[in-house]
Amino acid sequence: MGADPSPASARPLVILGAGYAGLTVAQQVHRLSRGKLPIVLVDRSPAHILRTQLYEIDRIAASGGDLRRWAVPLASVFEKTNVQIRTDRVEHVDLAGHTVQLDSGTIEFGALALCLGSAAAYYGVPGAAEHTHSVYRLSAAQRLATAIRAMEIASIALTGERRPRVLVIGGGSTGTELAAEVSTTDWAAITKPGARRPDVMLLTGSLPFLAGFPPQLIEHARELLVRAGVSIIYGWNVTRVEPDRLHLEDGSVLRFDIAVWCAGLQAPPPVAELPIRHGRGGRITVEPTLEIPGHPGLFAVGDVIEFQDPKTGRVVPSTAQAALAEARVAAANIVARWKDTELQPFTYRERGVALSVGHGAGAAALDRLTLWGSPAALFKRLIQRDYSHAVEQGESSRVL
Ligand SMILES: Cc1cc2nc3c(=O)[nH]c(=O)nc-3n(C[C@H](O)[C@H](O)[C@H](O)COP(=O)(O)OP(=O)(O)OC[C@H]3O[C@@H](n4cnc5c(N)ncnc54)[C@H](O)[C@@H]3O)c2cc1C
Repeated sequence: MGADPSPASARPLVILGAGYAGLTVAQQVHRLSRGKLPIVLVDRSPAHILRTQLYEIDRIAASGGDLRRWAVPLASVFEKTNVQIRTDRVEHVDLAGHTVQLDSGTIEFGALALCLGSAAAYYGVPGAAEHTHSVYRLSAAQRLATAIRAMEIASIALTGERRPRVLVIGGGSTGTELAAEVSTTDWAAITKPGARRPDVMLLTGSLPFLAGFPPQLIEHARELLVRAGVSIIYGWNVTRVEPDRLHLEDGSVLRFDIAVWCAGLQAPPPVAELPIRHGRGGRITVEPTLEIPGHPGLFAVGDVIEFQDPKTGRVVPSTAQAALAEARVAAANIVARWKDTELQPFTYRERGVALSVGHGAGAAALDRLTLWGSPAALFKRLIQRDYSHAVEQGESSRVL
């Protein structure tokens, strides 16, 4: 492409996925190309889902089905732009042929940003997909909220000491935030007086609790979880799940009313099946420019990639924070390819991490500063509010 590319003759930039990565790529490319590069943004949902807030299961349960707080319509984000929104499911991507097979037909692209995020990984554990809930998608979180409501209403009839039990599988950030939220919610206020407080257990599996997080944050989070009334079970992986119980590696059996799978993520099928080099869980290992190896001008961003930072040797975490940082560089490089100018490599600097650990409590680590309790919870809320605000205004966010 030349230095003054003609929009009329250009095949569009197709962005697959309108999550944190895809939405930001679309906003940035639109801005950097001054609206001259045609963009088609494809997602199965007509809204951008605020996935980092899907642990808010109590609010989802209390919402009465009004989910606007977690879903920002793409049509309003891109109202004043020429970004074309297409609500459709991606079935297959042909990198060499520059086409995407959608549910409703095939589209061609000149440039590509693959931003399809991630899907639950069940590691072949029998019964896990069938008998557990998850919070990786808004529809799944809504189903979980409905199930907890029903469980809590049924708990009014329980006798003796019995409390309904929620098992959260996975001791990473999602499992920690969800377990604490469920345990510290006043379910009687949301459902009916007399509803019993659930007995919440968090199973870390064989991975260390909050693996990869700063040690000082881990200790604060552990203490807050215990204060929230969550029991933590360390060390054993789940080997089988039945409708009302699960089996652990050591032979023990845990009964549950509701189990939630927060144990890991992998690349979604259209990404995992691509005939290229893959990293863990089918993620794409990309070039420093975030291009797919062997396919200049075709980029992958966000949870779909495994990126090892050449400076630190560390794999960049699968977080919204990293997805936004990658998306800004990918967008600049997409425009650089279009203008035939130099591309820049991606390097990652984490701005800090913040976890919600129950109502009004949290743990955060920012450079040398550690926050916990209510200041950390407030910090986390501010980050979320700033991000939602930026998206609703159709602006690119610098937060999260
Ligand atoms: C409960 C929870 C809390 C979290 N908290 C934090 C946090 O505090 N901070 C943080 O940095 N990260 C957090 N994360 C991680 C963060 O949400 C992800 O890293 C982030 O969403 C990755 O962005 P992405 O754009 O790659 O993927 P996503 O945001 O998942 O976007 C992918 C998009 O692709 C679309 N899509 C997928 N498959 C198809 C298909 N076949 N056809 C059409 N469209 C498709 C989806 O609808 C979606 O819109 C959290 C995650 C969860 C689940």
